[in-house]
Amino acid sequence: MKIKLSLLAFSALMLTQVGMDFTGAHHTILRLELSQFPAQMKQLHALDFDIAGVNLNAHTVDLVVDDLQAKQIHDLGFKVINTKSQVGLTRPDNNYQTPEKIEALLKKYAAQYPTLAQVQSVGKSLEGRDIWAIKITSNVSQPDPAKPHIFFNGMHHAREVMSVEIPLDTIETLLKGYGKDSKITHWVDANEIWVLPMFNVDGNNKVWNSESMWRKNTRGGYGVDINRNYPYAWNSCNGSSNSQSAQDYHGPSGASEPETVVMMNLVKAIRPVFSISYHSYSEIVIYPFGCEGQHTPTKEVVESIGAEMASLIVSDDGEGRYRAGTAPELLYSVDGGDIDWMYHEASVIPYVIEVNADSQGFQPSYRKWRQKTVDNVRPAWELLLDKLDGSSLHGQVKTPNGEGVGTAVVHLERTSGGNPFVQDYPVRQDGYFDIIVPTGQYKVTYSAPGMQDSVQSLSVGSVRVETNASLQAK
Ligand SMILES: [Zn+2]
Repeated sequence: MKIKLSLLAFSALMLTQVGMDFTGAHHTILRLELSQFPAQMKQLHALDFDIAGVNLNAHTVDLVVDDLQAKQIHDLGFKVINTKSQVGLTRPDNNYQTPEKIEALLKKYAAQYPTLAQVQSVGKSLEGRDIWAIKITSNVSQPDPAKPHIFFNGMHHAREVMSVEIPLDTIETLLKGYGKDSKITHWVDANEIWVLPMFNVDGNNKVWNSESMWRKNTRGGYGVDINRNYPYAWNSCNGSSNSQSAQDYHGPSGASEPETVVMMNLVKAIRPVFSISYHSYSEIVIYPFGCEGQHTPTKEVVESIGAEMASLIVSDDGEGRYRAGTAPELLYSVDGGDIDWMYHEASVIPYVIEVNADSQGFQPSYRKWRQKTVDNVRPAWELLLDKLDGSSLHGQVKTPNGEGVGTAVVHLERTSGGNPFVQDYPVRQDGYFDIIVPTGQYKVTYSAPGMQDSVQSLSVGSVRVETNASLQAK
């Protein structure tokens, strides 16, 4: 018995040591200057290169390559302007988060602010780790379904360590500022704010323990790119790879990965008005859709707010601002991404923000860049919280005796004050709705199965319009 135990202990130790050994991790980062940016980006993407980030001002792209791929790049005639070889592991700065640290930190905040914050596991990763989210609102134990929801998440991709820090900053800013700063107090009183700072927990564990450049989840040792695995328009426009070894491998089918399902279930349950998914790097704001030439039917709202956010984020050099666009406008096509699914399937206005410049890459010094980055990005998520009070419709569809009608749809048509704008918006639980719209005059039709339509004429200016509708049975 004793022998068995010590053997077990010994093999556990060996495993730990093997897990901590990085001899297999060898990669090089190549910076290429592209004379024909869109065409060459398309080519690199089609060839399954691991595209780390871009510099849209300098027309350069960074690739993570092995020796064979480095040779391929030279053979293809690309202009390599910088080569950074990293033999063995260069772990991220120790101050960045691990799955264990995030769990402890979120639980600490919930304990410290029990009336404002609740932490919960929203599901489990492939390896069985909890994925933690925190809900922030005043009187958090007594949810008010009338409050609009908003959602911020980090780290779909494991190596993008800074993408966890902005959601963390959101949590810290809101909790510490409540009751002291009138704007923050209002945001927390008026809305339900959901933050999920570290989504890809298994991948991040791998980043710390064996492969610092790991991006995907850990399926089968090869991994699936969670952010190409969402089922809306999955694998539809060469925006992901069929190859298991590619960094943007989309998996065997849409929503094949447990992490993807966890995110979908959370978004369907909370039905946020806005969402931001943080990534790194490239200093851009991305909105749907991810396939070339496709724009959202409500792009007047989606794209203008995206551009406004980008204009508020100061770039790392302190001189420029972020840029905004769809993925194919800025980089290359993306299919199976979270924002396309969120927009199409859950009526969210969703954004991806790629933080930091290529000079920082995936592993910026924490001391030099953490505070600076969260300070730079803060105006963007604050803008979305402000927009919840801006040009929009808020209310509830009810029966004559005041019960919410959860099956109702709000149909909007702009009748004057701008280009035609049409939108169908399925209400949330209990019949509540929050719809961000451009200013103008609207014909609003409320409908639900088995009930008579109700029609209103509304004028929407720069502030939120409160309106309710009562539906009679047919
Ligand atoms: Zn990413």
